[in-house]
Amino acid sequence: MQNDHFNSKMEHLFKIDPNFHDILRKSKDVDDLRHNLYEYLNSIEKMLYFENTVFPKLEIINMKECIKTFKNVLSPKNEKLAGFSAITALWKLYRGETSGISLGFLNEFIYLLKGINGKSGIYMEKFPEFFKFSGRNSAVLRSKDLDKLSNEVEYYIGRYPSGLSKKVSEKRKENKKRILNYFGANEENWNDWNWQLENVVINSKTLENLVALSVSEKNAIEKARQNNIPFGITPYYVSLMDNTTDRKYDHAVRAQVIPPLNYVEKTAEARNSGESLDFMGETDTSPVDLVTRRYPMIAIMKPYETCAQICVYCQRNWQIKDVFSKNALAKKESVENAIEWFRNNESIKEVLLTGGDPGILSEEYLAYLLSEFSEIKHLERIRIGTRTPVVLPQRITDEFTEVLGHYNEPGIREVAVSTHIEHVYEVTKDLKDAVSKLKNNGIYVYNQQVFTVENSRRFETSALRKALKLVGIEPYYLFNTKGKEETVNYRVPIARALQERKEEARLLPGYCRTDSTVFNVPKLGKNNLNFYQDHDLIMILKDGSRVYEFHPWEKNIALTKTYIYKDVPIQNYLNELKRRGEKIEDYQSIWYYF
Ligand code: SF4
Repeated sequence: MQNDHFNSKMEHLFKIDPNFHDILRKSKDVDDLRHNLYEYLNSIEKMLYFENTVFPKLEIINMKECIKTFKNVLSPKNEKLAGFSAITALWKLYRGETSGISLGFLNEFIYLLKGINGKSGIYMEKFPEFFKFSGRNSAVLRSKDLDKLSNEVEYYIGRYPSGLSKKVSEKRKENKKRILNYFGANEENWNDWNWQLENVVINSKTLENLVALSVSEKNAIEKARQNNIPFGITPYYVSLMDNTTDRKYDHAVRAQVIPPLNYVEKTAEARNSGESLDFMGETDTSPVDLVTRRYPMIAIMKPYETCAQICVYCQRNWQIKDVFSKNALAKKESVENAIEWFRNNESIKEVLLTGGDPGILSEEYLAYLLSEFSEIKHLERIRIGTRTPVVLPQRITDEFTEVLGHYNEPGIREVAVSTHIEHVYEVTKDLKDAVSKLKNNGIYVYNQQVFTVENSRRFETSALRKALKLVGIEPYYLFNTKGKEETVNYRVPIARALQERKEEARLLPGYCRTDSTVFNVPKLGKNNLNFYQDHDLIMILKDGSRVYEFHPWEKNIALTKTYIYKDVPIQNYLNELKRRGEKIEDYQSIWYYF
């Protein structure tokens, strides 16, 4: 049974556009409704293209986008692709069948209808004052408006303290002292990356001695261990956690490594049922053992299947047996074959060494790999994908950076580091020092951030971008979350990623927003979400999920298949933000990102 809120929303939906209501009422059946709505949308569109209207230009652009989206949803072809007919659901809803219909579904159509009618509510009624003037007068007024905007950005960014701030640094000093006491260790031990690895925390018992743990965190870790789900945290990374369980500031740090209970349960279920967790389809893109290739000029090599610690939503943790596990190093023969594959493929210009985390390989082994790859003349860049700067900055020793620097030859070959920092709370002096060492050896550091519910509040990712740039890291990618049911609680709708790019990243100076917002299409590779021609919203499901058709990067280059993706419902995401204390009004325009 639906509640009052649902009923009033439904009423609102049917009242919002009298023409829509009339069509719903008069149509004989679903197909009649489909055609009548299509005609209706055509008539508005024709008016927008042919007649002078009262709507501001930007509102007209939004109207056209809403019309396009509504037409997509009406398409029987799209219904087939999505396996669902929203128009049938609307038809039934109007006739009293509410079963399975969510608030998210209603809101999607409410906002679409508002948009189609030029009532998005995004824009102010009047143009800003400076439009009335010209020259210096206009510039002064505009400058004042821009001040306001800048102050607003600062206000939001100020909500997310950086690990570089004095207050946070002091907290971490205390944490470190407590952890060292527990292990009976000293500063020298702490700064030794091998000591850090030897003392990686692999169970809840140790962790609760180091930092406050909630009952559910403890249960989830225990259950993960019982089900052999990899879990591990370096003592350094534990020191980034606050000694309280409210997750007020350290939410992204904890969420990165402490698996939620439902994640553990679903992962265990998937493992027990023998279901593949390789949702990126890497096994289908591996031309030879250890190598993954999805692009013309770059390929991945995975020589080491373990990490210093385990990230909960890692797309490769199906391969990783455990933290710092023995036998994680690939067999000599496979490594040699993989290198040979690169040697024989002149089309490949870059290799990404990833894993696992090759950053925890010994200097000798890294030097071996780098020297082998350096001898391959067509390789112009060797990237090392490693989280060590953020989870184990002690690893970035002089020897390590010298090895990398040795093979970095400007004009011939670049050696670069790709790292993965999620939140401004992870940006510390230790990270800054590690990056400085790398840069002093000519090594650029790039960041790939995964956009999750933990770093997606207003300007939260911008706070990270700013901090990264100040410590010498280039923001490179912002990955939209994807994956199976296990990680559903982390996921952010594509609309929010688009909104973040347009309304937040865009306000930062260009040097800070060098990252691209991408969606990783399984088997096919990254799809740049900013290219609106590269994806289409084709359906809205009962639960409010949007279904997208992605056009892979090969579009207009080579014939390939499109990819259908079911997103997480915007409404669920907004509910989660509300639960975390956010004002939902701050996010209202999200419905107009398609
Ligand atoms: S460090 Fe990288 S490979 Fe290892 S668990 Fe984290 S994301 Fe996965």
